[in-house]
Order: sequence, then structure tokens, then C-alpha cells
Amino acid sequence: MSSSLDIERLLSERVKDIETSGIRRAWALSQACKDPINLSIGQPDFCVDETIKQAAIDAILQDNNGYTNTAGIDALLQTIYNRLHSQFGWEFTEESNLAAMVTSGTAGALTLAFLTVLNPGDEIIVPDPYFVIYPSLARIAEAKAVLCDTYPDFRMTAERIEKYITEKTKAVLVNSPANPTGVVLTANEMADIATLCKEHGILLITDEIYDELVFSPAKHVSPAETSEDVLVVRGYGKTYGCTGWRMGYAAGPKQIIDGMLKLKQQTFVCAPSVMQHSLIGAFDVDLTPLIERFTDRRDMVVEMLGDITELVIPEGAFYAFPKIPEGLNMCGIEFTSKAADHNVLVIQGEVFSNLDTHFRISFAVPDDKLEQGLSVLRKLLQ
Ligand code: PMP
Repeated sequence: MSSSLDIERLLSERVKDIETSGIRRAWALSQACKDPINLSIGQPDFCVDETIKQAAIDAILQDNNGYTNTAGIDALLQTIYNRLHSQFGWEFTEESNLAAMVTSGTAGALTLAFLTVLNPGDEIIVPDPYFVIYPSLARIAEAKAVLCDTYPDFRMTAERIEKYITEKTKAVLVNSPANPTGVVLTANEMADIATLCKEHGILLITDEIYDELVFSPAKHVSPAETSEDVLVVRGYGKTYGCTGWRMGYAAGPKQIIDGMLKLKQQTFVCAPSVMQHSLIGAFDVDLTPLIERFTDRRDMVVEMLGDITELVIPEGAFYAFPKIPEGLNMCGIEFTSKAADHNVLVIQGEVFSNLDTHFRISFAVPDDKLEQGLSVLRKLLQ
């Protein structure tokens, strides 16, 4: 059967403009390798905690399968209120100016946030390197993601951000611990960014999906500790190993959350009901063994690549973003292909950046695989 649709005419400009060629390339490379050592995957390699799994099973058996409130079920929201109260002193009462909602993944929270705040032509300042969806979400909102160059140390500081502020700037987005660099901003850096945004009347959106995955002595600090003019966006997927459950939450100024709720009500309605019930106990899970494991793997990456590449030591998340030595005369795309030829998958820097001088390693893989992969990369980088 042949199609009579003129697809070019049907597809929106927003869809045509979203750039996915880098990700498609990485995917094609992964398909071409047989049983590769895959250091490209951005999801935990551990199983969901048994109590959380059981809670999911119970939620289904107890018939919690219908729609929920758009903001989320009370029991889960209460755990979020308590957590943010203990971390930031935030109050969630009828009278307070703050609110929280459960979202369909962290990406779901970011999508709602961008669409709530940005009009066509508005600007949002995001870090470069960035998590891949930030520029796309700005495009979907017909706004512009202004890339804040953070090379070579990947620190998104107030000083660096300030240069990009214009009368069109509506929001600044920070991501600490960061994907793809693992950089964790300090308390002073965060407080300075919060102050800068306040001075300019700009909303600060803080993507804290890796808030729990921080390696001592580094500490995760949220700008919400010093400002209420902040939209906090977090997720459950990376911390509890349930990325496919699509669960996250957002909290911040009530009118912004109300806008996000309006959009959510008219689109996705609510976060998955069963998953909401299953994560009520999530904040009680002991993450210490997990963080120790990731710390050891981070150390392995630094030990194997630190002396032969320019590597900013990751202090959180599970990524490292080494620079390809200039002597090799290779861009990220070329190096990634070469690594794939040796059966190791990593992602070229251009997927996350204007530049293609680095590559991303995910160390969310078993220790033996990581060691094998790093040995291959070490040889290729010398
Ligand atoms: N923000 C960052 C920095 C991420 O790395 C990711 C996932 N890779 C997301 C947001 C999206 O997370 P989720 O799967 O919870 O939507």
C-alpha cells in the first residue's frame, strides 16, 4: 500500500528542527557492535530495591490503577514536602507561596517548566555541555536555549552566566551534579547564581536528578537552600534504578507549579498511579552501599584515564567527560567510532555541546566491564 500523505507538509517545524543525529549515530554504532562493552548508557546497573518492587506489586493488586490527582497522591506528596522542608526549610501550606507536584519523570517536569515559563522568542540560559534535551525543550516552546560556555572546568558560575543575560532571559537552568561532566557546584557558587537570578528577576530552574549521587567530600547543594525563587526538578529513576517508571517531582513558586499543573491536566493527566504508590517509601532506602560502589568506579576512571587525558574529576552522577588529547587529532565523532571498532561504546561530546572535543563515559556498569572498557580506551588515547 502506498501513502498519499505529504509528510514534509505534515511535520511541524518544531519537530524538523530537533536535532537527534548525534544520538542516532551513537545508537547505530551500538547496533553494529556484537556484545559491546557499553559505557554509553545513562542508567543505573543495579536492581530496584525489593521493598519498592513489592510496593509496586501491592499497588496493582490493591487496585490502585486509576487516575490520581494531577499533583500526585497525598501520601507521596507528603514525603516530598517533608524532604524539602528538612533540606530547605520550605513550607507547603495553603498560605505559603510554594507548591510541589509529582511528574512523569524529570524530563516531564522540565517539559512542563519550559512550556509554563517560555513564550516564543524568550531565552533560557543553559550550561554547555548540557543534558541533551535542554535545547530541544526550548525549541518546542519556540524559545531559545542560550548556551553558557563552561569549558574547560565545566563550572556554571554566576560570572559566566551574567554575560548571557538579556531582556529576553526568562530563566537560567543549572544542573548539579551534571550530566555529562559529573561536576558538582559548591554552596558559594549556587548561592551566587541564586542571587544573580533574583537581581534580574529571572527564574532559576535547578535540575537535581543526581542529588543523591555525590562522592564525599563533595556535597550536593541546592540553590533552594538560599532562595525561594527557584524551581527544583528531581527524579526517582537514577537514584532508585527505575528509569522506566517515569517518575519525578517539581517544587517551587506556587504560580509556576499551578501553570505546570494546568498543562499536565490537559496532557498527561497524572504520573503513573502504581509507580506513585510504589515510591512512597523510596526516601527511606539506604543509598550508602550504592554511593560507595559509584565512588570506587569514579576512582577507577580517574586512575585509568586521569594521567593521559584532561579530565575534570567527577564529584557526582555517574559520568566522566575526558578531553581527547590534541595530539591524536581526532574529534569526538572520530574517537567514538574508533572506540566502537574496538567494541567499546562511549558518546561523542557533540551530542552534549557546541564543541566536539570530549567524550562521555558512563560508569553505571559492572566493575569488570568498566575495567575492560577503560583499558581499551587507555590504549586508544595514548
Ligand atoms: N536531567 C538530566 C541531567 C538527566 O541526565 C536526565 C536523564 N538522563 C534527565 C534529566 C531525565 O530524567 P528522567 O528519566 O527522570 O526523565
